[in-house]
Amino acid sequence: MNKTLAINNLEFAQKQQKLSDSFAASNCKRLVDLLVMRGKNGDQTTIYFELMGDCKQFRHPSLHLRIKTQLPVICQRCLDEMQINLDLNYDYLISNTVTKEFDENDEIDWLEVDNEMNLHALIEDELLLAMPIAPVHDKNCSKHSMQSGEKPNPFAVLKGKIK
Ligand SMILES: [Zn+2]
Repeated sequence: MNKTLAINNLEFAQKQQKLSDSFAASNCKRLVDLLVMRGKNGDQTTIYFELMGDCKQFRHPSLHLRIKTQLPVICQRCLDEMQINLDLNYDYLISNTVTKEFDENDEIDWLEVDNEMNLHALIEDELLLAMPIAPVHDKNCSKHSMQSGEKPNPFAVLKGKIK
């Protein structure tokens, strides 16, 4: 990590601050292990984020985080490189105590009050959780016509041999 982005998360929420920034994915050591960082991917894979502080929506200090990125991975079907688009949104309550009202709400996460919360690490954690375990192409997969258990069309095989 070239620089650590630390924020006071409670103050950020209470003052309803806003921050938009980006950083290179190569700074995320754990995430990089899951990515294909060869060639231009290594320099050009960028993680964009927006953080907004709020204390009205939940009547409690909270943070709203949006993460947008395109990550290079290997398609688990054809083993070609592919990009996955991620556009993620999170709500966090900033509190040291969990109230029942929000504990039962799966949409909201908790963050303890932290005057030096590492924002890059939080974003990396969320990306690690959001990454598909076995990414495959939606379309244009070079093995799209061969789903598991499906036999190749014998005529298609012949055609391939004639070429
Ligand atoms: Zn594929």
